[in-house]
Amino acid sequence: MKHFFLRVLCVSAVNSGLGISFRASLIIADTIPPVTLNDVPSTPHVVIVGAGFAGLYAAKSLGRAAVRVTVIDRCNHHVFQPLLYEVATAALSPADIAAPIRTILARQKNATVLLARAMSVDVARRVVVLSDGEIGYDILILATGVTHSYFGHDDWAAEAPGLKTIDEATEIRRRFLLAFETAERETDFEARRTALTFVIVGGGPTGVELAGTMSELARRGIPRDFRSIDTTTARVILVEGGDRLLGGFPPELSEKARLSLVKLGVEVRLGHRVTHIDAAGVKIGDEHIAARNVFWAAGVQASAVSRSLGVPLDRSGRVEVEPALSIPSHPEVFVIGDLARAINARTGKEVPGVAPAAMQMGRHVARIIQQEAASGRTRSAVDRPAFRYVDKGILATIGRAKAVGSIKGIHVSGLIAWLLWAVIHITYLIGFRNRLLVILQWTWAYVVFRRGARLITGPVDLELTRTRDDARTVGTESPIKSASSPEHVGG
Ligand SMILES: Cc1cc2nc3c(=O)[nH]c(=O)nc-3n(C[C@H](O)[C@H](O)[C@H](O)COP(=O)(O)OP(=O)(O)OC[C@H]3O[C@@H](n4cnc5c(N)ncnc54)[C@H](O)[C@@H]3O)c2cc1C
Repeated sequence: MKHFFLRVLCVSAVNSGLGISFRASLIIADTIPPVTLNDVPSTPHVVIVGAGFAGLYAAKSLGRAAVRVTVIDRCNHHVFQPLLYEVATAALSPADIAAPIRTILARQKNATVLLARAMSVDVARRVVVLSDGEIGYDILILATGVTHSYFGHDDWAAEAPGLKTIDEATEIRRRFLLAFETAERETDFEARRTALTFVIVGGGPTGVELAGTMSELARRGIPRDFRSIDTTTARVILVEGGDRLLGGFPPELSEKARLSLVKLGVEVRLGHRVTHIDAAGVKIGDEHIAARNVFWAAGVQASAVSRSLGVPLDRSGRVEVEPALSIPSHPEVFVIGDLARAINARTGKEVPGVAPAAMQMGRHVARIIQQEAASGRTRSAVDRPAFRYVDKGILATIGRAKAVGSIKGIHVSGLIAWLLWAVIHITYLIGFRNRLLVILQWTWAYVVFRRGARLITGPVDLELTRTRDDARTVGTESPIKSASSPEHVGG
């Protein structure tokens, strides 16, 4: 692939009357013809870093604003994270829940998209430092979200992947499906049991969704596809340090979720903390559970870019933003979405890290920027409208057609909650094609109990070898006589 070299000159230039001095950013790359100073428009340059829910909704809401928008993301696609677990459990394909950012913004004439990784922000120079250059801004919207926190045990990451990106979802899918292929070729009881034991750490919505779907798939979705193993004997263990699942939900719904999971065959361990993870399994207190697969759904930490802002951060590294979502002393820098620790001016409570909050924050800052660009006057942070989060409720699915939720204080559960969940997710999914595909896949899965994306991609042979070697070290000769390559596709 052609090396994409960005050299960006930041030219302190035109003062557009917005009250802050604007810099025109010249991007000189070997793929873009050089720009001369005369070509540089005097409209404010808004740089948005991160095209998740927050950044993308901010960019789209600026479609009619008198500003130039540059959207920067390290990926070329926007991901609909709430459906990642469906990719991880082979119900949906990556392309069903993601869309190229460039395509989403293709018709927005004032927007440019750049594939680049932001390393830091130099607020004094008004520059975002990229891994391969710099870009200047007049107004910055930082929306790089959060990543996993292994609570000081970063070495666990290799054994216990989390679920935040498409790559991580396909990696979890690979490990999950491969476990059954491994077990099918294994006759040693313990080695087979280890292969078919899945531990999920963290009992929030992601952990609950993964555990429910994995157990249901093993019990009802794939048993007849295998000849040597009974997939219904797979153990799915959900470990939660708190005393209930779904900590952000009302206790009554937490209990409903627990009972539903138990019905689906999940072993729910509440009030237990994982103390060690390695290739052999996990330690929960003094108990060791031999497990080939551990998945991480606990703890998040802010994207590292936040540290360069030089403003107060909370314990997870999220930026403590002012009521209108800008940072202290820099009204031209907004931080939104999961990366922000914001207080809801409506309730005085912390805004939760959920997709609707990220979207609303994106729209909120876009409105401020649009108004100030139109009036030519930058208001001080205290004169701007404070962010007021409208909480429309919370929902979490448990398996194929069950969910729990609280909408405006009304508790819902079972199929009705799942239908509500499905409608909301389809509505917010980006792109008509994706909506149609997801509806078709869900209908198919509901009727025939089959999953449409059971593809194992990645290093299959390596995993099988590793497992058989492990079995030998515990004194079991591998029963597999043929060295022929296994079928790589799980169904
Ligand atoms: C598995 C899962 C399930 C979820 N389920 C739900 C749900 O059911 N309902 C709900 O409301 N919420 C759910 N959430 C939470 C919701 O997805 C987040 O609150 C929301 O995505 C936050 O949006 P954001 O724009 O702040 O961050 P993100 O959506 O995480 O976007 C951040 C963007 O920044 C980019 N980026 C990061 N670092 C850099 C960098 N250095 N340089 C350039 N680009 C960068 C990333 O590529 C990404 O595109 C779920 C989250 C996960 C992970």
